[in-house]
Amino acid sequence: MSQRKLEPGKLVLASHNKGKLREIEAMLAPFGYEVLSAGDLNLPEPEETGTTFEANAALKALAAAKATGLPALADDSGFCVKALADDPGIYSARWAGPDKDFAIAMQKVEDGLQATGAINAADRSAYFVAVLCVAWPDGHTQFYRGEVHGTAVWPPRGLEGFGYDPIFAPEGETRTFGEMGKDEKHILANGEPLSHRARAFALFKSECL
Ligand code: IMP
Repeated sequence: MSQRKLEPGKLVLASHNKGKLREIEAMLAPFGYEVLSAGDLNLPEPEETGTTFEANAALKALAAAKATGLPALADDSGFCVKALADDPGIYSARWAGPDKDFAIAMQKVEDGLQATGAINAADRSAYFVAVLCVAWPDGHTQFYRGEVHGTAVWPPRGLEGFGYDPIFAPEGETRTFGEMGKDEKHILANGEPLSHRARAFALFKSECL
């Protein structure tokens, strides 16, 4: 099926995660869409039963598009640690437990790395993935994937961002995402996207907007 463009108008952001909503809303701001969030519309949060980022992003975007009759954009993302067979991956939010306590989730990553004997930076490769899915009410979907690679550091550093940001330093940086302002997390000095979400968004922008 051919690639569609998003017509100007209403767009539902199919996420209940405040950190992600903030970031995606800021990225969409210059494009003049009327952005409605799943929370504002009281849409239920579908259970993420997929086994890939793509499947979970599609599940959320399709549920929102079908419930509202509007195009919807969903992001499924996560933190993958190579020495842990890419865990927590699609389970990144779930590792934080019902209280969404990321101190616990980050400790779990570190415990896993310690158990594998991963002490040197070279053994602590990690990356963030973001998959954006745009879904239309007729069931058509399009996907945009971004990744940023780097190292899992310990102890956590910085109070910016959310989730696993304090334990991730992107390649070429000594600071963690938690120590970077939001502009620095997303865009490099040369204007190229840095974060997984900014990279996925750049593709989405060039192919869909
Ligand atoms: P999702 O709502 O299932 O996509 O959950 C993604 C989870 O991955 C979030 O709750 C965070 O824990 C983690 N994550 C995704 N993107 C980021 C990021 O940019 N910084 C830190 N953690 C992230």
